[in-house]
Amino acid sequence: MNRGHLSCLLDAAVAAGADRPAVEDDRGRAWTYAELDRIVDRVHTRLARWGVGRGDRVGLFLPKSLEAVATIHGVLRAGAAYVPVDPFAPAARGASILADAGVKAAIVDAALVGALRSHWPQRGPSPRLVAVGDAVDAADRLDSWDELAADDAPSPLRPRTSRDDLAYILYTSGSTGVPKGVMLTHANALCFLDWCRATFKIGPDDRFASHAPFHFDLSVFDLYASCGAGGTLVLAGESLGKDPARLGAFVSERSIDVWYSAPSILAMLVERGGIDRPDRRAPRVVLFAGEVFPIAPLRKLRGIWPHAELWNLYGPTETNVCTAQPIPSRIPDDRDQPYPIGAVCPPLRARVVDEHGSDVAAGALGELVIAGQGVMRGYFGRPDLTNAAFFHDDRAQWYRTGDLVRDDGTGCYHFHGRRDRMVKKRGYRVELGEIEAALYRNDDVERAAVVARDGAEGVVVRAFVKIKPDRKASIIAVKRHCGQLLPNYMIPDVITFLDQLPTTSTDKVDYQGLTQWAASHV
Ligand code: AMP
Repeated sequence: MNRGHLSCLLDAAVAAGADRPAVEDDRGRAWTYAELDRIVDRVHTRLARWGVGRGDRVGLFLPKSLEAVATIHGVLRAGAAYVPVDPFAPAARGASILADAGVKAAIVDAALVGALRSHWPQRGPSPRLVAVGDAVDAADRLDSWDELAADDAPSPLRPRTSRDDLAYILYTSGSTGVPKGVMLTHANALCFLDWCRATFKIGPDDRFASHAPFHFDLSVFDLYASCGAGGTLVLAGESLGKDPARLGAFVSERSIDVWYSAPSILAMLVERGGIDRPDRRAPRVVLFAGEVFPIAPLRKLRGIWPHAELWNLYGPTETNVCTAQPIPSRIPDDRDQPYPIGAVCPPLRARVVDEHGSDVAAGALGELVIAGQGVMRGYFGRPDLTNAAFFHDDRAQWYRTGDLVRDDGTGCYHFHGRRDRMVKKRGYRVELGEIEAALYRNDDVERAAVVARDGAEGVVVRAFVKIKPDRKASIIAVKRHCGQLLPNYMIPDVITFLDQLPTTSTDKVDYQGLTQWAASHV
């Protein structure tokens, strides 16, 4: 067994307890580790028959399901890397991501096959597809999942692999309008998982909620910490995941022991999930990451789940979690600031630097940079972006997080926002520049600028648009246009038409002026 490969986690779980429950969905289906292993083997068999192996990429364009979990493990067993895309975002975006990643094959929800094909860019060969569900257009180069699962061909040999092989590529919002693919290796993921194993008390009897979608890096913990512990992954499908009342019931009724989500989901559970009802059971380990958890809802959560181990985890997709802060069992009444993002997670290393990469004075504000085995290889097909994201010195190669922090003198980092135009919406990364790029693809738009501000319900994204003189446009039409190009969470909350956008003396958009204007014109 190759211990430097994520696929060894499933092998070990099967060896330790083939009949134990591996994965359950929210519609009553469940597979033991033996059942999961068999389907994973079938996925590997099909991919190997198509010549997919080490160094290749395979797309995953599926709602959360047992099949999606089997696909992920099957791709890894084949030695390839998976590229998960949001099945609820516009198909045009999904197709351009999968084409960018050069996937050789993709496992696709049957209902999405047509849209994927119609948006597939002309250039380059189209991938082999497996359709999950009833395929609408059984066509050339389209296989069915049922046929894949029933295939009794002998298992192929496992490929030779290295811990430095790519395991998955996660596409995040890109400031120039094109999502960028963060390349993560087996060594990157295992570095994070080793830290998790050493830090959290998790074991084979634990039931891990899978709330985050598979294209979001929080899912790496759910998928592999559960499998690594030989525990059970309990899938919360996309519609359940957004419904606080059902999600609150899910945590209790499905006996969730380990929970990991963005703070906004936990805040939603606190407010509308009914988790404070006396008959409700609490998880034992509750992790959150992706954005600041404001102190008021965190205090309420702490009061409702006083005995849970609570952690604030921090890190960009490029490093996975790189700092962590346990939350005390009681939050003092006079605390009005969010908790810090905490100390660096060994064996990663962290520094706070200025724009030249030199250490700032103790306690001063600077950019957090990270080095070590958890740090991504780079951005897929974008050496320019990769080079810009790193700098070297005689100690290491450092990844620039773009986050401003202060070290309080004890090695504990306090988060002070971004140094660029990236914001977080319900834990998702949103480059305001990507929204602007989408607006500029509308023929009616002459100029567009997008700003964000914190509102009572989280970040509010506001677009200011100047329409071309000879054109007419409605807010609904502009929103609809955005909806064809962007996932829901990136569609501006507010669109304002202006005759002129404020500009600086060099004719650049005056973002500061717009932000101030937006704050006073809510
Ligand atoms: P993503 O790549 O989607 O995981 O987003 C990473 C960014 O989210 C980081 O660079 C931070 O700006 C922000 N972030 C992640 N975790 C936290 C946290 N615990 N507290 C505050 N901001 C966070």
